[in-house]
Amino acid sequence: MKPAAAWRHSLAAAGVLAAASVFSAPADRFANVEVKAVPVAGPVYMIEGAGGNIGASVGTDGVLMVDSQFEPLAARILAAIQVLGGDKPKLVLNTHFHGDHVGGNPFFARAGTVLAHRNVRLRMAGCTPGEPSCDAADVPGLPVVTFDDRLRLHFNGDEIDVIHLPRGHTDGDAVVWFQDSKVIHMGDHLFHARFPFVDVASGGTVHGLLANLERVLDMLPADTRVIAGHGPLGGVKDIQAMAEMLNRSLAAVREAPDEDALEALKRAGLEGYEDWSWGFVNTSRWIGTVVASEAARTAAP
Ligand SMILES: [Zn+2]
Repeated sequence: MKPAAAWRHSLAAAGVLAAASVFSAPADRFANVEVKAVPVAGPVYMIEGAGGNIGASVGTDGVLMVDSQFEPLAARILAAIQVLGGDKPKLVLNTHFHGDHVGGNPFFARAGTVLAHRNVRLRMAGCTPGEPSCDAADVPGLPVVTFDDRLRLHFNGDEIDVIHLPRGHTDGDAVVWFQDSKVIHMGDHLFHARFPFVDVASGGTVHGLLANLERVLDMLPADTRVIAGHGPLGGVKDIQAMAEMLNRSLAAVREAPDEDALEALKRAGLEGYEDWSWGFVNTSRWIGTVVASEAARTAAP
């Protein structure tokens, strides 16, 4: 598969697109999307439109953006930033490679520098991390600064830690923690009150997601504002709620590996999570993800 096609395939796999037809008629899909900024704390805003929530720090140092949604929305996103007194971002961080988070990169990379975990660059270029060779494509908007574990940026009065969380939603995720403003952008390590999409085909695992959330909970002050990858602005309690659901799901499968997983999960209380079921990850898909992820973990050497 051509790299560009691979990237687009991952978009569809992420369920962000109702169908591949988005590429033949993007104007229709995005015509009525309203892009709006929500103040979070200090210089930090959340920008909603379609796709993953954007984080933006707007101040005297300029604009730093976390994720870029879709290219057809880029002009509207920039207009929303200009209403806040900013302009084209100097720095664009990507939380992971899915197309609803990096789609606007080609637009914003003309004036800014894109930064991400090294696996984001590899996967956007159509490569698979860990494979010895790859004919990487020159995809517009690729990250030009990559990191393995973490980065610290100093911008608009914040110390901003960009921290890689391994093998959770994918194998290349990072969260972005604005320490002075007490805000964190979770990327798709957090879907607000929804069963999460775990991209197992791209290195994601349920137990990794849980371990990563517990690590984040250990480091965050309780009054941190939380930008989820998808859903409204929230707080630490939303991360706690996701970790609890993951714990219940994994415990149920581990305690009753020989029984029907659906029944085990229901007994464990997953029936209290009916409203977490949504179009792309309904309850049965979620259970299947947990079972597959746990089976792969126990089979690993
Ligand atoms: Zn994603």
